[in-house]
Amino acid sequence: MRLPTFWGGIHPPQNKDLTVNEEIESYLPKGELVFPMAQNLGAPCSPVVAKGERVLVGTRLGNNDAFVSAPILSSVSGTVKDVTMRMTTPGMLENCVVVENDGLYETAPEWKPLENYESADPKEYIKRIREAGIVGFGGATFPTAVKLSPPPDKKINWLIVNGVECEPYLNCDNRLMLEGAEKVIKGLQLVMRIFPEAKGVIAIENNKPQAISVMNDLVAKLGAENIIVQPLAVKYPQGAEKMLIEAITGQEYIMTALPADVGCIILNVRTVFQIYRAIAEGNPATTRIVTVTGDAVAHPKNIKVPLGTSVRELINLCGGFKEQPVKILSGGPMMGISMRSIDVPVVKGTSGILALTAKSAMLKPITPCLRCGRCVTACPMGLVPNVLEPLVLERLYTRFEEEGGMNCIECGSCTYMCPANRPLTQGCRDGKASVMAMRRKAAAK
Ligand code: SF4
Ligand code: SF4
Repeated sequence: MRLPTFWGGIHPPQNKDLTVNEEIESYLPKGELVFPMAQNLGAPCSPVVAKGERVLVGTRLGNNDAFVSAPILSSVSGTVKDVTMRMTTPGMLENCVVVENDGLYETAPEWKPLENYESADPKEYIKRIREAGIVGFGGATFPTAVKLSPPPDKKINWLIVNGVECEPYLNCDNRLMLEGAEKVIKGLQLVMRIFPEAKGVIAIENNKPQAISVMNDLVAKLGAENIIVQPLAVKYPQGAEKMLIEAITGQEYIMTALPADVGCIILNVRTVFQIYRAIAEGNPATTRIVTVTGDAVAHPKNIKVPLGTSVRELINLCGGFKEQPVKILSGGPMMGISMRSIDVPVVKGTSGILALTAKSAMLKPITPCLRCGRCVTACPMGLVPNVLEPLVLERLYTRFEEEGGMNCIECGSCTYMCPANRPLTQGCRDGKASVMAMRRKAAAK
């Protein structure tokens, strides 16, 4: 049977075997935890606590009343040690709240299940989702309450749960589907109360047969009407919004539109899981699962950790490095961010830590473009990466925009395919950042 998919894309090695059978291990750290105030797409938070203040699990540490934002909550109980600049994953100093953990993990009393949650007004769900600090846990970190509040004229026909996890090496979503499937389905059912006319789809790449089987069995057992489990062809980047919409609905999706413009809302599996926990169980979204993997790691694992835990602690929990890594990424090899230090905290968008030795990192010298066109064939967005990169190098940002550079989803397919090892994705990333900075500057005038 031919499975749904999208045009273009690539087939990088999966390398998921290192952690695919590793059950999720829970870890409760001691000592200090660090909470950067910028953890979501949109407006960053400002600290709302002061040094010396006692906090509990779920206490608000940072907030921003802007529509597109989500609060930062404490994942531990303890005392605010400092409000200061600390190093974060991109290698930048950012405003952070530092909490000294008392090890008691006492939850703030306001965190209770939503009363009569199964029949509650769905508007209460959206309020709770925002209060719980829920964002897109697939890595995009877009505030979920905003995603679930489309303009009234947009009719939502599809609620797509993204269980694709097409990024090589990562298994945090796969393991969650195996170990927390019921809460994923029940979370989707709650979201379907907000959009009662929508069809629920749990989309999973066909390389996760166990997850597909578990989900199918539970959908049947729970009598989850109007929810289907849809296996998809294994192809990168199948989990990107555009590719997912095209594969599931069969309609073309233009990047300048929002998914809601074509009747779709896409939520990562962990996001839906957290929605259930926040509404039905009264838990704030203060933990996440991180896949710690790569051939430099002694014992790769999938670990559930409180947000704010140091990446170094996670690596130590995996037995440290068995070989010196030459590259450490936050995320997977295709879309991950290169890390300058492991003394940074786990944040809402940390899906994986990947440490690679020289053998697997395949660092090769950058050579001039051969005009082979492989990057063009690979690009799922129909862009011409070998044209975009020189435009960014020459700071021709208007031309970069005209050539569609802002539509780049930073999937890494072009870089992966390039025999000259051109940093094409980084070029697009830089180009997009420069254009956004120019737009902000123009708007401020
Ligand atoms: S140009 Fe952007 S969207 Fe196209 S392959 Fe490269 S990273 Fe992906
Ligand atoms: S794949 Fe690399 S070498 Fe080939 S055209 Fe693109 S940038 Fe040039």
